[in-house]
Amino acid sequence: MKRLFAFLLTLSFALAWGPKGHEIITQYAIWNLPEGTLKAAFSAWAPDLRQAANDPDRRKATTPGEAHRHYWSSELFEPWPFPHFPMGLAAARARFGEAALEKGGVLPWAIETSYRRLVAAFRTGDPKAIVRAAGDLAHYVGDAHQPFHTTLDFDGQSWLNGGIHALFESTLIEAYFDERAEYRPRPARVVAEGPLALAFGVIRQDYPLVRALNEELWKAKRLYSAFDRRFYRKLWNGLFGETERVQIRRAGGRLSSLYLTAWIEAGRPVLRTPPSPAGGR
Ligand SMILES: [Zn+2]
Repeated sequence: MKRLFAFLLTLSFALAWGPKGHEIITQYAIWNLPEGTLKAAFSAWAPDLRQAANDPDRRKATTPGEAHRHYWSSELFEPWPFPHFPMGLAAARARFGEAALEKGGVLPWAIETSYRRLVAAFRTGDPKAIVRAAGDLAHYVGDAHQPFHTTLDFDGQSWLNGGIHALFESTLIEAYFDERAEYRPRPARVVAEGPLALAFGVIRQDYPLVRALNEELWKAKRLYSAFDRRFYRKLWNGLFGETERVQIRRAGGRLSSLYLTAWIEAGRPVLRTPPSPAGGR
């Protein structure tokens, strides 16, 4: 067990929430949909959607510009609570410059763009395009609910808490998170404020968690070494585990709402259900 945790701690933080976290968020979003053609189709495509939710991380190495879509370094733009956001990408480019956005990330606009692609895909009715766009949207909405994707201090650098990113989003989730047992319904609603305002609302809510989680990690480090399983148990039973459960449920609720809103905006198309569009990859 000690070796397992030591290994897990060395995993890269590059995969936000880790594949397991992104899959759970996608599944919760499907469960949260109201009964009807949308839920029936997404339930039938669930294995593909869960896979597609991790595609943006797989693309990072090969697609130029992809890496910047996964985070937003708040401090580079405005102090919390970012009173001038949300603003459109063109307005942000004009105000902060392309270099700042390259460094600081464009996560909120990645959510908006994937939402638009999903509306367009619903209009065409092409199941493959729908799964692709819905998977992208699932990924970026998931990333926005990971507090360490909202800050320049993405791995606890200024707290001497290196490794906190992976500990929060992968290590504890892989070890303890039970997808079915932790599910709580958060029924989908219509996102009247639009996807961009929703994205900034999420980030505004997350950001204070960065400090709280860093403080909590120090409390655990004073008690146990990272080679002691009690260290992980304490984190899972305390603020880390609680925050992970809440953030994953929130992400599943908001993602479901974006799916429902996109489908309504597209004119409530009837969706062709099985066979699975990717032919079961
Ligand atoms: Zn990501």
